[in-house]
Amino acid sequence: MGCEVSLAPGAATFVFPTTAGQHCVAALTTVDRFPEFRADTDATFVSVLAEAAPALAKALPSATREERWTGTTDVPHYYRQPWGPGWALVGDAGLHVDPTRGFGITKSFNEAEWLAEAVTEGMRDGDLDGALERYGRARDRAGAVYTERNLSWARFIGRENDASAIQREGPLPLGSLAEWAA
Ligand SMILES: Cc1cc2nc3c(=O)[nH]c(=O)nc-3n(C[C@H](O)[C@H](O)[C@H](O)COP(=O)(O)OP(=O)(O)OC[C@H]3O[C@@H](n4cnc5c(N)ncnc54)[C@H](O)[C@@H]3O)c2cc1C
Repeated sequence: MGCEVSLAPGAATFVFPTTAGQHCVAALTTVDRFPEFRADTDATFVSVLAEAAPALAKALPSATREERWTGTTDVPHYYRQPWGPGWALVGDAGLHVDPTRGFGITKSFNEAEWLAEAVTEGMRDGDLDGALERYGRARDRAGAVYTERNLSWARFIGRENDASAIQREGPLPLGSLAEWAA
């Protein structure tokens, strides 16, 4: 089995291979259902799978769970000041978005590239603070796009049972530092 994403109103599942023929299976739903998970993790997990990926839920009894359950509701969105004199933050340290849409790694690498470019320019031109300010502006603007998209997915707002909804969202806010800081 490769990677699979299944979406339904109020529920989603991810499956992806890990190691030695094993797979990670994730069930996502709204925070208000967390008490159900706490009360009966196995049953609630299967019930969320059944909503988003019925075939997977049917296949599950023939699988063996190799790891302990891992779950959380503690995935806040936050913005921290991205730079100051002689320092800057990239990735989750500076701006965190709910992991539902799987943006975090792309966002972190992109910010790291922008910061490297900004520092190079700032040192070349003798204006490191000005360059870091441009980096921070680009980070905030792109971050607003990630945040808006992510929140609607994390809240299951307006989602169809159709993974092509992800494709219809258009490209991620990548592009050049100059473009996003302008
Ligand atoms: C359940 C879940 C699923 C996700 N799925 C996806 C996905 O499918 N795709 C995607 O793109 N993103 C996903 N993400 C988000 C992604 O994992 C993060 O956005 C990304 O790892 C952030 O990278 P980072 O380098 O900024 O931070 P991290 O990966 O958190 O790295 C920070 C590192 O710094 C270390 N550290 C912390 N404090 C100190 C210290 N004081 N001294 C030294 N080291 C320290 C930490 O131990 C850690 O290793 C997911 C996140 C979660 C929680």
